[in-house]
Amino acid sequence: MQPELVILDIFYSLQGESTYAGYPCTFVRLHGCNLACHYCDTPESRDPGVTVRRRSVPEVISEIRAHVCPLVEITGGEPLLQPATIPLCDQLVAEGFTVLLETNGSLSLANVPVDVVKIVDVKTPSSRMQESFRLDNLTCLRPPDQLKFVVADAHDFRWACRFLEQHPLSDGVEILFSPVYSRLAPAKLAGWLLDNGIRARLQIQLHKLLRLP
Ligand code: SF4
Repeated sequence: MQPELVILDIFYSLQGESTYAGYPCTFVRLHGCNLACHYCDTPESRDPGVTVRRRSVPEVISEIRAHVCPLVEITGGEPLLQPATIPLCDQLVAEGFTVLLETNGSLSLANVPVDVVKIVDVKTPSSRMQESFRLDNLTCLRPPDQLKFVVADAHDFRWACRFLEQHPLSDGVEILFSPVYSRLAPAKLAGWLLDNGIRARLQIQLHKLLRLP
């Protein structure tokens, strides 16, 4: 029997993050996470008492098709905790969807299909999870994959810059710096990026500005 997906929600909204920000997107939010970030903005994904749905891959795909949208993001929680995430990615790619996978960087990307756009967090010190990143994941990244640093303060920023100095990325992999919502003013982070000559893209969580899910 094929494994089922444990789902918090499937919904249609605007993509708020990554280089796809602003596009309509169908989101599949999966339940469960192996980390406990200090600033977690989806604590329900780690709540064992929350209401979830269990669905097979074909059932999830049929819900996704109903939104008639070519862009799909699989997120969590941590989607790679669930064995059915990879078959879901495979099937969506085979059906011609553009698939984004948002992952916290702590689990191996080796089995993620190459055609899936991987948006991978490197947890900074303010998350209290900064030891969680798997360095071997860097070898799995190629354009248009994206590496993301969520920054709460100057210490996080300096830590992220040092990480990038020590671990050069393949050409064309996007680097995203995102301020922790309501903790760091985006203009401040923009100033740090410019002052330090960091070739990264500032991203602001558009869905939060617009108060979308
Ligand atoms: S990885 Fe994401 S879902 Fe998991 S604890 Fe951190 S912020 Fe929350």
